[in-house]
Amino acid sequence: MPMPDTAPPSIAASYFDGTSARARAVMLRLEGDALLISGEGIERRVPLRQVQWPERTRHGMRVAHFTGGGSVQCADAAAWDDWSRGSGRRESLVVTAQQSWRWVLASALALVLLIVAIQQWGVPVAARAVVALTPPSVDSSLGETSLSVIDEHLMRPSRLPAAEQARLREALAKAVAALPPGSVPPWQLVFRRSRIGPNAFALPGGTLVMTDELVELVGRDDKVITAVLAHELGHVRHRHGLRMLVQATALGGLAAIVVGDFSTVLAGVPVLMGQASYSRDAEREADQEAVRILKAANISPDVMVTLFEKIAAYRHKTGEPGQSPGNTPEKEPEQGGKTAEEGKAPSADSWLGIAFASHPADAERVQFFKDAAAAR
Ligand SMILES: [Zn+2]
Repeated sequence: MPMPDTAPPSIAASYFDGTSARARAVMLRLEGDALLISGEGIERRVPLRQVQWPERTRHGMRVAHFTGGGSVQCADAAAWDDWSRGSGRRESLVVTAQQSWRWVLASALALVLLIVAIQQWGVPVAARAVVALTPPSVDSSLGETSLSVIDEHLMRPSRLPAAEQARLREALAKAVAALPPGSVPPWQLVFRRSRIGPNAFALPGGTLVMTDELVELVGRDDKVITAVLAHELGHVRHRHGLRMLVQATALGGLAAIVVGDFSTVLAGVPVLMGQASYSRDAEREADQEAVRILKAANISPDVMVTLFEKIAAYRHKTGEPGQSPGNTPEKEPEQGGKTAEEGKAPSADSWLGIAFASHPADAERVQFFKDAAAAR
């Protein structure tokens, strides 16, 4: 059925460029995946990923900050909320959770299920069951919220040339294309400069984050990078992020949720995601997925062995003992301070999101990839 063509709604706001205190009257409009700002001598297009949307509280001014600098303000909160809704923008998970009784009810139900399931089967199996019952849109919201918080606290914009980013994206796309359609979840690959050293991790919903440092560590080798990302896609496919969250919540935050301190629990989620340390079983599942993708793409799983070697060399070079918590590979003092305010300093065991969590396990995993390479 043809729908009448309507222009996206716009709203009046004040724009600050982030360097001067001068406010400029502008109109805001959402178009595709960008926020358009137009007004006195300004025409700016900000990708939505760089917009930190204000939380929808009851009162007060709405201020949206841009990670690349600058902000917009709107004093009319009600008008802003109407505009935001009318533009079809999804609320962050925290706001949705706070404001939608359906969400709260669903969470309460999930919680009851979780408690029953824990009594029945124990935490890991219960978490798996709850994840299976959770709609995939929850993964995406979680991932989006996580990325904006991670960007604020742990990451800086990438310095990899756009052509280089495109080359690596293309390499993964090509590998994945060799598999039957639909057998790999949708993904997007973003690059960041890290404050915690070489790293790669997957956010729920399919955003893969690769740091410049890891790209450099493996000598920009697109096969090794594809292997790392294939492993991360395994975490996405099996929804390990959400499962980890459910488990952590079940273990640590159950009481808090029951008494209604829901938003506090959710607010801690992004930090958890950025410093993911999955269980051995989850790593095994992700490794299997990596092998599946690599073989389909005709890349030897041996490239993962290369990765482990480079990481071992890196650890050796930086003198990282590996098992002592609180040691970050880059010894910049500001980093400790940044994350300490979240109550969680990244530990040596979790610095690499691909989660080489414990070193004895590394040997087992190296052997797994060697065997897989030999079995081709
Ligand atoms: Zn992993």
